[in-house]
Amino acid sequence: MRSDTIIRLENVWKVYRMGAVEVPALRGLDLEIKKGEFVAVMGPSGSGKSTAMNMIGCLDIPTKGRIFLEGKDISHLSESDLAQIRGKKIGFIFQQFNLISTLTALENIMLPMTFQNIPGYKRKEKAIELLNLVELGDRITHKPNELSGGQQQRVAIARALANDPEVILADEPTGNLDSKTGGIVMEFLKKMHNTQCKTIVMVTHDPNVAEHAERVELLRDGVIVSTRKGKKHEHDENSTCKVRIKKKNNDQKTKGGLRK
Ligand code: ADP
Ligand code: MG
Repeated sequence: MRSDTIIRLENVWKVYRMGAVEVPALRGLDLEIKKGEFVAVMGPSGSGKSTAMNMIGCLDIPTKGRIFLEGKDISHLSESDLAQIRGKKIGFIFQQFNLISTLTALENIMLPMTFQNIPGYKRKEKAIELLNLVELGDRITHKPNELSGGQQQRVAIARALANDPEVILADEPTGNLDSKTGGIVMEFLKKMHNTQCKTIVMVTHDPNVAEHAERVELLRDGVIVSTRKGKKHEHDENSTCKVRIKKKNNDQKTKGGLRK
């Protein structure tokens, strides 16, 4: 496995059992995601996109096959081990936003940090920083129903970043938004990718949304049927990604030098 691979699915099968009926949602899926990549997964309804995201996001285990996260095989872990990993390493964004309606924007963002035993004042500090990042610093005490759909999704993006995960998984993040609001949400997702070097895997059935990704994978009947390159992303000058990329180049130079 390449050292810059963050997620790898190897011949992954997921067969749901509905009484006597078996529904094969994934049929030998192979997928590799590199650190800092922005990948879109497209495909018709029922092709297994959400099931694949559940596998990548440690929400479920495969019927067969292996899943590696940062080189560690996670395909047979217990639910409590999976919960631990996803709490630290993965941020989720859903089509329905999935914010808690009784909590304010700030409290929604603080919540994932509560499970990581981060002290209250730090949770608040970080949540305010993240709300400012998605340009909602003036909506701290608003509840979800006091925010527009686009604003709710921006709170959800901030929440996904709360524990500073390596990977952000977004399942139809613009599916419930009009195209203009969806465009704004995409700009924020790209900002997280470009400035914070997050690895992003995003499901969409909208080709205009998929256009934002660096790679587009097409899923049909539980397998990848085609892959195409998208736009090359320019990372911001001061982003952590740039530092990482520079460091990697230096490492390679050193190695090259030694070989000579
Ligand atoms: P997509 O996200 O591409 O629309 P899904 O991954 O949700 O597709 O579903 C893939 C297939 O698996 C579908 O045929 C769906 O009906 C089935 N499926 C998904 N989740 C379950 C489940 N929990 N139990 C049984 N069948 C399921
Ligand atoms: Mg789905």
